[in-house]
Amino acid sequence: MSQNARSGNAKRTSRQRRCWSVFALLVFCTGCTSHRDTHELLDSLLWVQTSAEYDALASTTYRQAGEALDRALEDPSWSAIPEQAGAVAHLPPAVILDLDETVLDNSAFEGRLVKQRTSFSPLAWDDWMREAAARAVPGALEFIAQAHSKHVAILYVTNRHARQESSTRENLEKLGIPLPQDLDTVLTEGEPPFNWPSEKSSRREYLAGRFRILLLIGDDLGDFVAGARDAPEQRVRLAREHSQRWGTSWFLLPNPMYGSWERSLLPASLPDDARLKGKRQVIRDER
Ligand SMILES: [Mg+2]
Repeated sequence: MSQNARSGNAKRTSRQRRCWSVFALLVFCTGCTSHRDTHELLDSLLWVQTSAEYDALASTTYRQAGEALDRALEDPSWSAIPEQAGAVAHLPPAVILDLDETVLDNSAFEGRLVKQRTSFSPLAWDDWMREAAARAVPGALEFIAQAHSKHVAILYVTNRHARQESSTRENLEKLGIPLPQDLDTVLTEGEPPFNWPSEKSSRREYLAGRFRILLLIGDDLGDFVAGARDAPEQRVRLAREHSQRWGTSWFLLPNPMYGSWERSLLPASLPDDARLKGKRQVIRDER
């Protein structure tokens, strides 16, 4: 056997070994991804995408927020921010809106997770945001147009990261939502120079120093008050402490698909199987 033939055989053997290694790695990695045969998102997603109940609830929430906006504009002492005490009438009026599942309907992204039998990953979420293709939540566009017509500033406080701000703005503009050029009204997590944390209180306080905040609108307790990631019982207690504000100056959109309510149940770092098992253990099945 010539040197060249030996060398050729050695190369083939080495290539075959590499091929098998890559194949084994692929099989292993396929097992590593969170491929699931049952998917707890399925019913909540279908409810958001297809039910008359979700559509009616979201539209009604925004219609009632629009009615509250008129009352708030007539009352110069009105504020949706508990800390915004004292004379606020001199400040320009504004409302604070969350974006995801408040203005932007990302249920198509959740639909991909279900259809692909996988679970959330930051990379997949980044890809979805780059598409800038989210629809609007029912009622959101009408409310935003109403607020604009009354010269009320719309301030978007979102936990989308600063690196996704341009695609987020693109998505809003595609939906016909105007954004001012002279003022940054989209406050993203990590945005310089403030480097905002995911907890939204600091952004609300910053805005409350500059605007009279008439309404807060969101789909997560964290869109209204600090403490959204506390234990479930504490979260319920916290929400009840502010019962006077719900439906008056705080308006909550339904989101059964995800949120701090889910994160408060179990650590996010748990593997997928352990999370599913843990969720079953949390379910109350006795009086
Ligand atoms: Mg949201």
